[in-house]
Amino acid sequence: MSIAILKTIFHYFSLTANPSLHQIKQTHARLITAGYDGDTHFTGQLLAALAQSQSTPFRYSLSILNSTQNPSLFAINNLIRCCAKSESPHEAFSLYSSMCKKPQFRPNNYTFSFLFQACSKFTGLTEGNQIQTHVIKLGFFDNVYIRNALIHLYFTSHDTKCAKDLFDECPSSRDLVTWNVMIAGYAKAGKINDVEKVFDEMPERDVISWSSLITGYMQNGYLEQALDSFKRMIDLQLSPNEAILVTVLSACAQLGLIENGRQIHSTINSLNCQMTVHIQTSLVDMYAKCGYINKARDLFNEMPIKDLSSWNVMICGLAIHGLAMEAIELFEKLLIKGLNPDNVTFIGVLNACSRAGLVNKGRHYFKLMTEKYKITPEMEHYGCMVDLLSRAGLVLDAIELVEKMSTPPDPVLWVTILGACRTHGLIQLGEETGKKLIQLDPNHHGNYIQLSKIYAKSYKWEDVVKTRGMTNDRNCKKIPGWSLIEAHGKIHQFVAGDRKHDMSLEIYKMVDRVNIRVLEAGYSPDLLPILHDLEEEEKVNAIKEHSERLAIAFGLLVIEGGECIRIVKNLRICGDCHEMTKVVSKVFEREIVVRDGSRFHHFKGGECSCQDYW
Ligand code: ZN
Ligand code: ZN
Repeated sequence: MSIAILKTIFHYFSLTANPSLHQIKQTHARLITAGYDGDTHFTGQLLAALAQSQSTPFRYSLSILNSTQNPSLFAINNLIRCCAKSESPHEAFSLYSSMCKKPQFRPNNYTFSFLFQACSKFTGLTEGNQIQTHVIKLGFFDNVYIRNALIHLYFTSHDTKCAKDLFDECPSSRDLVTWNVMIAGYAKAGKINDVEKVFDEMPERDVISWSSLITGYMQNGYLEQALDSFKRMIDLQLSPNEAILVTVLSACAQLGLIENGRQIHSTINSLNCQMTVHIQTSLVDMYAKCGYINKARDLFNEMPIKDLSSWNVMICGLAIHGLAMEAIELFEKLLIKGLNPDNVTFIGVLNACSRAGLVNKGRHYFKLMTEKYKITPEMEHYGCMVDLLSRAGLVLDAIELVEKMSTPPDPVLWVTILGACRTHGLIQLGEETGKKLIQLDPNHHGNYIQLSKIYAKSYKWEDVVKTRGMTNDRNCKKIPGWSLIEAHGKIHQFVAGDRKHDMSLEIYKMVDRVNIRVLEAGYSPDLLPILHDLEEEEKVNAIKEHSERLAIAFGLLVIEGGECIRIVKNLRICGDCHEMTKVVSKVFEREIVVRDGSRFHHFKGGECSCQDYW
């Protein structure tokens, strides 16, 4: 092989974002046959290509360096860069230490910036500090690349103060990357105010800056702010990258609000963004989680290339919509295609079984997961199984499963079992479980409520009072319930008994009207809601002020007739609100979709898609 061809290959590598390990090894073999093994120039080129590749096995990279008598600094730097990306980043430090013993070794700014990258990977602040003294001694401390890498290292080592000091002390050694590192670092540390401050102060912003800001909002739970920033960015005519689009679509999916999601979808189309598998998958996920399962299915079917996560979002989407058989069919199709399901796939399929009460199928898939695919079940898988068994009345089987778990069970599993004890009238077992649960998780308000309901069922009123009293004695965590509804391009949030809304007066008038109409239609309120944990909302005496009822009343007022009312609720809908919503869907001839903490309910003509199984 001629030297010209080899040079062409390396030129190609330098232009490729990530040449594959296979391609590199092939070229390496050609170098050896052409007699260039150990050539100083080509060794450096080979390592540079490896550093660009996604897979950089450390032993292999080292063997390339060792094949040459006198490696160039370029080769050494690239080997350090390979280390930083490899599974053994700490080797970079040992390599550097051994290099320092050679008198001819003169590190440059790349050496240090790659070394700090490696230290960040294994949060080696001690090693980083040692290198920092070399940097100062050799006069590189003003170098912006090195400083950026060092700031990043401080952030990954959770030392935001040192990162900030380093940033503040030398304003002349800052570039766009420096500012972006600051934003990303503060975002990871959960310091959203600092993220905003840095973002506002930076002299210029690129797509990475916006991406870091939006991701920062998402990581810290500020979903609406993430969406707002996205809109601002689009208004400035900036083109979003894949990461941003996936992030904002996920925000819409989590909020369950379709209007924002639709807007982003049309932005993607109008900007002619490249439709990657990730973006398409996020769209499927968004539509499914916002209640548009048909749209999600159409998009999924149209996808030219699907990866496992595309299948996963579709299977999970079908499951939360109660389309259990379709979810299972899709899962079987995935197996036929020869794809290997992962833990998320099984969450979807087990969830589907649990929603539809398919006990045997659930057991079969749980076994398939652990025995054939060797996937260690996680809390979510146990959650589905415990739910499935408990609802079917197989409470003892559920307890057996939980007791066999290798990790300590999430108290939620016991909550499910406790609920099942109550529903199936297993008083004794319920009392034992309830006490166990309170021991495990004494600060959770709902546990006391659950136990007191068991006592109520066996008329042990003294115990009821005692258990309820315990919640006041302890500092119990209560999760406030809320419902969201989107109307006129705005998100409206309601909590139980809310009177803060601008239209509060009309809303309560509508609540009264609804109550009269549903009573006329034969609905009778269940004043002792026996199902489901109501958390905070239960404390509001009047069930009629539950957040979803306020949201429904508001929806009836402002959403045009014929249009579906869509509500997102953080907790499970209570039995009584569920009954009432069914009646509302009939007497007002309105389709109502409620996404609660657990699944979707499509109310139509007096029926719910969950068939009261949730
Ligand atoms: Zn309710
Ligand atoms: Zn339902």
